[in-house]
Amino acid sequence: MSDALDGNAIAGLLRVIFGSEMTAAVGTCATCGSASVLAELVVYLQAPGTVARCPVCGNIMMVFVRRRELTCVDLRGMADLAA
Ligand SMILES: [Zn+2]
Repeated sequence: MSDALDGNAIAGLLRVIFGSEMTAAVGTCATCGSASVLAELVVYLQAPGTVARCPVCGNIMMVFVRRRELTCVDLRGMADLAA
């Protein structure tokens, strides 16, 4: 089990993907419906990707996978994302 970080650990990644500062954006969990500032998500940096989990229920809200120079993000665990 790798150590859990908070959403600030993916601030740079979010900036690359969304083109702006996203740690203060609010994501809504698709499983429990709680809204969290992205900086509060529980982040695990692990190969081959990075996951950000809901701090309330542990649902995976964001998955980042790096392929060559492209970083892909899967937001299926997120019901809403408001910057
Ligand atoms: Zn949740």
